[in-house]
Amino acid sequence: MTISPQSAPTLPTGPELMPGVTATPLALLLLGRQSDPASERGVDCPGELPASSDPTLVERARAAKAALGDRVFVLGHHYQRDEVIEFADVTGDSFRLAQQAAARPEAEFIVFAGVHFMAESADILSGDHQKVLLPDLAAGCSMADMASIEQVERCWEDLQAAGVADTTVPVSYMNSSAAIKGFTGRHGGTICTSSNAKRALQWALSSGTKVLFLPDQHLGRNTAVLELGLSLEDCVLYDPHKPGGGLTPEQLQAATVVLWKGHCSVHGRFTAQSVADVRERVPGVTVLVHPEVRHEVVLAADLVGSTEYIIRALDAAPAGSSWAIGTELNLVRRLAKAHPDKTVVFLDKTVCFCSTMNRIDLPHLVWTLESLVQGRVVNQISVEPETARHAKAALEQMLALP
Ligand code: SF4
Repeated sequence: MTISPQSAPTLPTGPELMPGVTATPLALLLLGRQSDPASERGVDCPGELPASSDPTLVERARAAKAALGDRVFVLGHHYQRDEVIEFADVTGDSFRLAQQAAARPEAEFIVFAGVHFMAESADILSGDHQKVLLPDLAAGCSMADMASIEQVERCWEDLQAAGVADTTVPVSYMNSSAAIKGFTGRHGGTICTSSNAKRALQWALSSGTKVLFLPDQHLGRNTAVLELGLSLEDCVLYDPHKPGGGLTPEQLQAATVVLWKGHCSVHGRFTAQSVADVRERVPGVTVLVHPEVRHEVVLAADLVGSTEYIIRALDAAPAGSSWAIGTELNLVRRLAKAHPDKTVVFLDKTVCFCSTMNRIDLPHLVWTLESLVQGRVVNQISVEPETARHAKAALEQMLALP
């Protein structure tokens, strides 16, 4: 997670980590001992967590899950740690998991081993009688945090001032807060995933003349240019930290796609140099990247596709083939383990876990499940009804995409 000096949270002075050593707020945040109150995720994780060194954790998780039976359904995102994935009833990307939550009305509790925006989507799509729990409220998403509702409303005002809001259709990636999904629904837009971004953009451009794409500039640019055949000049970048987004009204009027200046701090780390290096290290390698990577990385790679596409491509690959994968490291490691007959390497040599996703660990999962066994619902994620109604309209528009 990248924290710029401007966005570094204001936190109380930290406790002593060891005698005489007081942690700074930023160090505590990175160590998982604090959280960012300005972010879309929650601000703390109450309760006494079991120690991560407790050798009975696996047994305790099994026992608590067995005691809850069908009352609980555990969703595990592809980027989760192995120790957590082991207890998932289903694994998938964020949208598939939210759909799975809705398809299990008998489950009273949905424990979402993912990040905050995913749990919000599960709450929006699941029944009123179901409660969605996020084992660590500080498991957020740096990309979702890059578009706050206040910033997006200001952007809309800029589009109105330029006289183009009426013909602009918002398209928001799943990786956005419920408030942004609600904004999208209120303005007649759609949600998209990395699998259907092309269809979402085509639909939006057939309904209006311009798209406001939130919050991942890379997915928006890669889709607009590589899949829709637009030029880089057809896209402009709206920077929420600059007056007017750093754009003139004329630039907003001329653009076909207004990209939000947000990115994934995991996928954004890959570079075209990573691709060149791996080609040298692994002869004959096929480089497969996620569309959240920068445009120049996609251009340097052989294939680009969503998480589900990456999994399918590896399943279909012939034995003996070599692959360098540009996505989150937990998933790449699992793919390497699942395909011992193929060479599967991580695209970059540096470690690239999603740090916020990794906050969900076995101690948090055990604490959540055992709390439920004791009749306590902890860390419930609940989206305010009016926001949920509009967000659901945008999600339903995605399901209705031609
Ligand atoms: S991998 Fe990137 S987009 Fe996905 S949850 Fe982590 S920070 Fe967010």
